[in-house]
Amino acid sequence: MNKNLGGQVETAEHSFAPAFLNRNDAGRRFVEAFEQSQASGLDAMGSALAHELNQPLAALTIYLHSLQRLCLKTADKPPMLQEMVDKSLQEALRAGEIVRRMRRFSTRSEPDRQPFDINTLAEESIDLAMVGAPRKIVIERSFEEKLPLMSGDPVQIRQVMVNLLRNAIDASGGKNLPRISISISASDGFNHFRVSDNGPGVSPVMVDRLFKAFETSKPKGMGLGLAISRTIAQNHNGDLALEPRGSGGGACFCLKLPVS
Ligand code: ADP
Repeated sequence: MNKNLGGQVETAEHSFAPAFLNRNDAGRRFVEAFEQSQASGLDAMGSALAHELNQPLAALTIYLHSLQRLCLKTADKPPMLQEMVDKSLQEALRAGEIVRRMRRFSTRSEPDRQPFDINTLAEESIDLAMVGAPRKIVIERSFEEKLPLMSGDPVQIRQVMVNLLRNAIDASGGKNLPRISISISASDGFNHFRVSDNGPGVSPVMVDRLFKAFETSKPKGMGLGLAISRTIAQNHNGDLALEPRGSGGGACFCLKLPVS
């Protein structure tokens, strides 16, 4: 595994043989990590969906309530109108109840806070993100050493790191020499995990919408990764932000998490 010593930058083509091909223990951990990431992603997606649906459904219910009252007061109305409005309101209330249950379900799993080493978690995230990525991507690491252990939910934080890395892989995909730089450093009581790429950068239309759910510029994108990632970062008293372009010319995202 590539390691960076003394804060120097190490450049290496990533090894695309996942760890589990070589070592059974590492293999099991890798598969577990992958499954946890998927589960955590689904959980977060349910939560984001429920959050987005909540407001329009509440508005719909209010409008239908008003319509129902109006209908009751109107003597000369088309046949069936009252019944159709009543049924619409019932269905809107039912949808609202489903969304409330979804929210309860997806927020039920409390973050499993435990101490973790950010550099180790970053290496695991790189392994996960690289599954199925083009071979030619060059990964540069600049990891500060001996950082204090952090406290948080490593499954959720790994999910954020993988999201950022996958976005960087997508963005740099069109380059002859795709390159991703990952740095980890500490300052002011926070650890900073930065991912920059040499893709085209964030398009001007997306800049203000990046962290909103369901905003995407990708044909098959969901537009949930950054919204979920920022929520996770903020739930850990940290943040996720787009930074000015790095030397690679593309986008640079910084995940900031407090040292425990
Ligand atoms: P998705 O990847 O499904 O589109 P995200 O929330 O992860 O969802 O990203 C939202 C949008 O932000 C992307 O569609 C893209 O337009 C933009 N974006 C994210 N990361 C990058 C990046 N590294 N370079 C350029 N644009 C990016």
